[in-house]
Amino acid sequence: MNEIIEKIKQSGLKGRGGANFPVGIKWEIFNATLANKKYVIMNAAEGEPDVFKDRYILENHLEETLKGFKLALDLFENTQGYIFLNKSLYDLLENKIRKFVNKWPVNLVKEKGGYLNGEETVLIESIEGHRLEPRIKPPYPPEKGLWQFPTLINNVETFYHVYQISQNQYHQTRFYSLTGDLNNIGVYELKEDSNILEILKQTKNLSEKPFFVQVGGGASGIFLEQENLDQPISGAGSLIVYDTNKTDKIKLLKKILSFFLKENCGQCVPCREGIYRLNELILKKSIDWLKAKELCQTLKESSFCGLGVGCGMACESLIDIIVKFNQANG
Ligand code: SF4
Repeated sequence: MNEIIEKIKQSGLKGRGGANFPVGIKWEIFNATLANKKYVIMNAAEGEPDVFKDRYILENHLEETLKGFKLALDLFENTQGYIFLNKSLYDLLENKIRKFVNKWPVNLVKEKGGYLNGEETVLIESIEGHRLEPRIKPPYPPEKGLWQFPTLINNVETFYHVYQISQNQYHQTRFYSLTGDLNNIGVYELKEDSNILEILKQTKNLSEKPFFVQVGGGASGIFLEQENLDQPISGAGSLIVYDTNKTDKIKLLKKILSFFLKENCGQCVPCREGIYRLNELILKKSIDWLKAKELCQTLKESSFCGLGVGCGMACESLIDIIVKFNQANG
């Protein structure tokens, strides 16, 4: 067994891109898949609104993150690496990264599409020069990815923690981006199993005014009320706080829907039509909330990829808060 893979497995590290898959197992599958060429991709697409922890890591821990990436490149001799960056990170860091990876077999790629481009199979399609649509899974990239070769894709934070693991400096932490109606907006490195309430307390962000939160991203993140803060932050490690009385909740719902209207690829009917119909419903003067929730359910159950599912989950959880607020306030 490869030493670094064994160490990653022992650490229990889970992917920090949102899917929470055990990193050691992913590396093990990639390592064990026989092929004469392999690919390793760093996903720095970070395209969800109000998520900015990967940017923070690249700005503050670039070398360590690239060294973590190099450990994956070194697993197999004939490996080509790609560093896939969103437009603003590419413009900000291109020169620094090129200088550091100068002698490595690595290409830098600037993201072409939007949010969906960060989905791992869309990212592969994008590098191959195809239409930006997700692939059917399985097969999963560690077995068949870029140009049908084994491909290991991890996000920025994951590679950073892999480097920490290699140096015996990983202490079960993760990065959280905190924003919204808060006093201390920023990125914090805290224990990975901290719950939302603990995070708000530790960062001196626990408000006395009524609030609700969105967890895991500013579009697909789930909305939770104050009584449900005893759970860890899932997904991409983001927490957005909304002042309940100050926030125009319907405007917020419209904002989320217009994001997904723009970002969905149109490949599958439940997502393409579901988001369109949901948006149509929300724009009416008198909103049929029951119908809206049915559409969210369809999105969750029938969408082809995580974008449609995430849209359904985010909208449904926000609708629950709106309906409850409306009932309580006549
Ligand atoms: S769920 Fe949406 S984004 Fe995903 S494949 Fe279907 S249309 Fe495209």
